[in-house]
Amino acid sequence: MQLLLLVYMPFIGRHVSIAGGIESSFSRAEELGCTAMQIFVTNPRGWRLSAIPSASEEAFRKKATGIVSVAHMPYLPNIASPNRETFAKSVRSLFENMERCDKLGIGYLVTHMGSHLGSGKEKGLENVAKAVSAALEVDTEVRILLENEAGHNNSVGDRIEDLAGLAERIKDRRLGFCLDTCHLFAAGYDIADHGVLDDIFSVLGMDRVHVLHINDAKRELGSHLDRHENIGYGHIGVEGFRRFLGYRNIASKTLILETPVGNSIGEAEEIALVKGLVS
Ligand SMILES: [Zn+2]
Ligand SMILES: [Zn+2]
Repeated sequence: MQLLLLVYMPFIGRHVSIAGGIESSFSRAEELGCTAMQIFVTNPRGWRLSAIPSASEEAFRKKATGIVSVAHMPYLPNIASPNRETFAKSVRSLFENMERCDKLGIGYLVTHMGSHLGSGKEKGLENVAKAVSAALEVDTEVRILLENEAGHNNSVGDRIEDLAGLAERIKDRRLGFCLDTCHLFAAGYDIADHGVLDDIFSVLGMDRVHVLHINDAKRELGSHLDRHENIGYGHIGVEGFRRFLGYRNIASKTLILETPVGNSIGEAEEIALVKGLVS
């Protein structure tokens, strides 16, 4: 008789560089002990998609089976922008990044919701809904994941109700969410408190959340400042993350660290620390 052992393997990794070719991101992630990774699929500081040689694309697709990969949108697009030109360029960028994810075999594209630049939250949310709906016209299974914000200045999407409102408005199963622990904490949600998590997921629906950005917070609860800290060195702390990751099936999501590099803790050590908190 064969004994079937089901080994639970969490998907944990960090944002890694694509320097030297997009396919090189896999070896970087593997060296750190990652079972998941996040990358930019183009130059993060440009508007136009940088070219990828077809050999690189091929190599990436071949390696894309052993590890969960997540793409993050570049920095410049602002899908909440009231400026027509910026908005149009941002939608185009979202569209192009979707197409590239599709080609590379990446299942998730994370995007920030951006800033309404003083035009008001409602107008900003309306633009986000428009942009996402336009990008979802791409015929692909790639999911767009909207990331919650810390709530600084005119940023859109720090309140869970606003995220849930977008899901209601867009109504496409390919729309999902990426929750960032530092941003939640900065927005005033104490993620170590299971009652707070019950409130969050009763509004948003846990199955809509596919990726979690696991970042400690440099600043205090409700600071509205987006300052990431290494796990255990910020205001959430190791015990806070232990409680957070022990909540229902939250640890079965894809967990991505976006913490400072070369600081208080080594990258591989930090991945091992988070793995230890979920097992
Ligand atoms: Zn994040
Ligand atoms: Zn952040």
